[in-house]
Amino acid sequence: MRPIIIAVDGPAGSGKSSVCKGCAEKLGWRYLDTGAMYRAMTWAVLEAGIDPLNIDSVIAFAKTINIMSGLDPQSPSIHVDGKDVSGSIREARVTDSVSAVSAIPQIRELLVQQQRDEARKALQSGTGIVVEGRDITTVVLPNAQLKVFLTASAEVRALRRAKEEAGAAFASQQAVTETQIALQRRDHLDSTRAASPLKQAPDASEIDTSDLTLAEVIQEVVNRAQAVTQ
Ligand code: C5P
Repeated sequence: MRPIIIAVDGPAGSGKSSVCKGCAEKLGWRYLDTGAMYRAMTWAVLEAGIDPLNIDSVIAFAKTINIMSGLDPQSPSIHVDGKDVSGSIREARVTDSVSAVSAIPQIRELLVQQQRDEARKALQSGTGIVVEGRDITTVVLPNAQLKVFLTASAEVRALRRAKEEAGAAFASQQAVTETQIALQRRDHLDSTRAASPLKQAPDASEIDTSDLTLAEVIQEVVNRAQAVTQ
């Protein structure tokens, strides 16, 4: 298939990461998780002992660090100043503060520049790239050849995320309820902020993943990519 940019947005737990990694693997393309970049920034802010709500300090600090995304869908990684933080960025303290950090326009400017560079470099080297986030179809790569908005019901998203967090095929009702409340809070913050809020681009095609298997969603995205490259 001709290499293109596939841009994917959607709320937390809609299946973006699994779907985007799966598509990139299937196509032999690169994969960029922009949420991991905002998480890495948040992790570094917390590690430095900076209050994520102290906007001026966060901005000054952000300019001093280097965030590097590994683009292999089989082993996605993220480094801050050479340190692999792929595991640490999933800590609850990072998840709780990431929406505050990602709402700062100057932080977004820094990271969006890197995201656009990665997409450009992929195409220049003759490979496609699958980029996932909240503002990829609307702000970062609005000219992507394929734009997808992934959704799923609030219940399905909470169940998936709670199972992931438990590392098991089963999650207790209490865990699912708590996860649903946490996801709702983050979605609310991400979709009501002034800078690049999460919203569906008018020309992004929606896939509701609630009743589909992961393999089915991956195939659907690949089919849509095939359709736009013909
Ligand atoms: O995708 P993930 O849930 O790991 O993203 C973590 C957070 O990063 C989101 O809740 C959002 O605040 C922020 N984010 C963003 N823009 C993106 C990707 C993620 O603001 N393109």
